[in-house]
Parts: sequence; C-alpha cells; structure tokens
Amino acid sequence: MAKVLVALDQGTTSSRAVVFDVSGRMLAAHGVEFPQIYPKPGWVEHNPQDILNSQITALKEAVKKSGVDVADIAAIGITNQRETTLLWDRETGECVHNAIVWQCRRTAHDVDKLVEQGWSPVIREKTGLVPDAYFSGTKLAWLLKRLNLHDRAERGELCFGTVDSFLAWHLVQGHPHVTDATNAGRTMLFNLATQDWDDELLRLMDIPRACLPQVVDSSQVIGMLDESILGRAIPVAAMAGDQHASLFGQACLQPGMVKNTYGTGCFMLMNTGDKLIASESGLLSTMAWRIGGKPTYALEGSVFMGGATIQWLRDEMKMLSTAAESEAVARSVQDTGGVYLVPAFTGLGAPWWDQYSRGALVGMTRGTGRAHVVRAALEAIAYQSADLMQAMAQDCGFVPTRLQVDGGASANAFLMQFQADIMNVPVVRPVVMETTALGAALLAGLAVGVYANAEETAKAWQQEALFQPEMEEYARKNLLDGWHKAVGRARDWAEH
Ligand code: ADP
Repeated sequence: MAKVLVALDQGTTSSRAVVFDVSGRMLAAHGVEFPQIYPKPGWVEHNPQDILNSQITALKEAVKKSGVDVADIAAIGITNQRETTLLWDRETGECVHNAIVWQCRRTAHDVDKLVEQGWSPVIREKTGLVPDAYFSGTKLAWLLKRLNLHDRAERGELCFGTVDSFLAWHLVQGHPHVTDATNAGRTMLFNLATQDWDDELLRLMDIPRACLPQVVDSSQVIGMLDESILGRAIPVAAMAGDQHASLFGQACLQPGMVKNTYGTGCFMLMNTGDKLIASESGLLSTMAWRIGGKPTYALEGSVFMGGATIQWLRDEMKMLSTAAESEAVARSVQDTGGVYLVPAFTGLGAPWWDQYSRGALVGMTRGTGRAHVVRAALEAIAYQSADLMQAMAQDCGFVPTRLQVDGGASANAFLMQFQADIMNVPVVRPVVMETTALGAALLAGLAVGVYANAEETAKAWQQEALFQPEMEEYARKNLLDGWHKAVGRARDWAEH
C-alpha cells in the first residue's frame, strides 16, 4: 500500500487531524472541540492540556477511521492557530499559565505605549507587522512580568512557544524546543531579513533569548513522534502557521500567486518569493515558508468580518436559517437596489486601518427587502477582499492572474462569481478544500522525500471550479465607487 501523510491542524476552537494519501486525496479526518476561556471582557485563553488532549484524540481517531496501518504513515505535519502564546517549565513541561489566545486584547495598552514611544516604524521594518496585541511578543512579556518569571526565563528554566512549538515539545521524543519560521514571524520578535530573533526588540520587550525556541524550517524532520501515542515512532516533519500551510496547500509556489480563505474572517496571502516587500498599503509582510534554509516571503491582508457577516445575518438579524441559504436569497434579486452593507463591526483592517469604523447599511429605499440586504452582505465580503487584492497589486506592481479560494464561505457560488466580477480576476476553487491540513501534510512529505521537490507537491492541487469575470467595466466601476462611498460613511464613527 502507498504511504500516507497525516496533518495535525490545531485551530482556535477545535483540534483536527487529517489523513491524506500521497496524491493529496483525503482519506479520513477527525475533529475535537475544546472550551474557550474568557476570564474578563476582551481576554481569551485556552487550557494547554485541552489543546494537547484534543489534538492527540483527533490524531488517534483520524488514523483509526482511515483504516491505514500506522506503519504506512510516512510523516506527520503540524499546522496551527497562530500567535497564541504558551510558557512552560523546561523540566516538567507544565505550563505556568493558560495559553493566551491570539484574539486576547490584554496587552493593548502595552502596545499603545510602544507606539507612543515611536517604535512602530522599527517594528514594521524588522518584523513586517503592524504593532498589535494580536501578536505573541507583548503576550509573552505580560506573562514574564505579571508572574514575575523574568529571572527563571533568563536562567533557561522556561520555554516560550506558539502552539506548533508546544505540540512539538510534547509530542516529539526528546522534547525539542523549536518553532518554524512562519510561526516565529508572528511574534513581533523575529527579524524577517536576518531570520533570527531580534536583540533590539527582545530588549524593548524585556524578553530573555534563553526562553525562545530554535527557529527551524517549515519542512524539516524535527524528531520522531512519541511512541506511546500511536505505538510507533513516526517522523514529525513539518510545522507551519495555518495561513502559510494553506498557501502551500493551494500550491501558490510562484511569486505573484494569491489565495484567500473565506472563514469567519478572510485571510489573503500572496507569495512574493525571495522579495521582502514593505507594504505601503497597510498589509503585513510575513513568511510564506522556509524550506532548505531559504525564506520565501508573503504579503498578508485580512478581513475581520468575512463569513461572520453571514453568521450575523443568521443569528442576530434572523434573516437566514442557514449560511448556505444566503446564496439562493441573494440570487432571488437582480442586484442590491443600491444597498451597501459595510460590516465594520470591529473596525476596518487593511487598507483602511480604522478601528473607529462601525457597521453601516446605506442606500436603502422603501423598496429595500431582506434579499437586498443578504445580497449586500455577500457582496461586502467580496468588496473587502477586492480591496486587499488591489492593495497587493499596488505593493507588488502587477495584478495577479487569478485568485485561489478555500474556506467555508467559498462554497457559495454567487459570492465566488461576484468576487471574480468585482476584481476582474478569475477565481479558482480546488477539489480539496482542507488546504491548511493538506499544506502541512505536503510540507511533511517533502521533508521525508515522498516528494522530490516542492513542485512535485503541486500535483496534489486540482481545480474543482473556475469563475471567470463577466461584468462590464462600467458596471464594475459603478459598484466599486458605491462601495467606497459607503465605506466612507462607516469610517470614523465610534467615539475615540
Ligand atoms: P472558520 O474556520 O473560521 O470557523 P469556516 O471555514 O468553517 O470558518 O467557514 C465558516 C464561515 O463561513 C461561517 O462564518 C459561515 O457563516 C460562512 N459560510 C459557510 N457556508 C457558507 C455559504 N454557503 N455561504 C456564505 N457563507 C457561508
């Protein structure tokens, strides 16, 4: 029997494991949800033991479901929710605190201080990031300071890690303390150009180097899976943050290739090759992956309210009974009748970066009905993504030839067609929508020689649907003008 690859996909609300054959076909998957902990408004934590236990259960169940012989698993790859911060005792593995989740805003004031002190351009230049509480750096600094652990960290008694690192330490024989370059790139401590932790930023946030993991490639054998888990030692051969794994799983291997994942939010990444592009449009620079010691970079933009806009129509506005119903409802009208929904519920990200924007529904008349609003909500997801694409095109100096899509809301054919129309760029959807897990599996397969090179892994990608742009130029321009006018109405709304 052919060998198989397994991906561990440790997400924000659940841990999943997916078994693939070497052609990229999904053989089995299993997911285990775990509790979210909200100690205060705006704070989010996970119990580290929940992360670990759910991931191990998912792995065992997925392998059992697939019916494959454990001896046929060629390698395991890890992909993970990014930026979530853990700190544990190097001797016992015991965490000193719950994991501080990426969404957690507890260090917002610490970040404000860094910005007031004028550190933004330095942080942006070195890490590619816009200073924010979202990234791991200030979360780790908070733990060291609040728990009074600086001296222990300095003596090397503690290990910091993002979820990839935490899983590797606990699942791999010999407890390697490692993280991959894509995850390191989300800490606000990692210098993208030198590919090393940045001493100036470590000093700034008062973080001892001794607690930081060694940064490894995204595709590299880091050790063997602890035998007690599946009864056999298997190479753990890849680690990559979820969006980076998905870019790889979408086979966006050449500079200029772009993917957009339509989940709760949308995450758009463009491969920029060996060029580290400093965005002038408010996008983040980040790692695509690091293979054979060679960094490949990416531009990243995100939409805060993607599929969540549809969730809101369903749960709060009661306009839909299921998210999927939005497609038929949107198609029941010719157009939105001039209505625009700007879902700036939590502010707007790139290219606007306005945290004071709020949701707006504009252009309504006496004839406006539910279907117009539902259609406007789907179109809003596409407009926001189109704005990101436009920003990427500006930063890199050319318009990408296509957009590759995945995630729950990419199942919506109306949304995908409107996306192609409004960008005037074809949209393609792959057969395997689990691109994050697929990417981790392919990166692992590459490390153990299942694939001779990265290009070989691209054969696992197959097109399922193609949406060609069909809209007339004048109609496109009118709609985009209307959208940007609506965004203008939503901006700078909340009290500062
Ligand atoms: P996440 O991984 O962020 O939880 P998923 O990739 O599972 O998200 O996608 C779920 C999101 O996509 C939800 O916000 C849901 O409202 C939206 N969604 C799912 N199916 C559809 C659909 N057919 N049309 C529009 N939105 C959808």
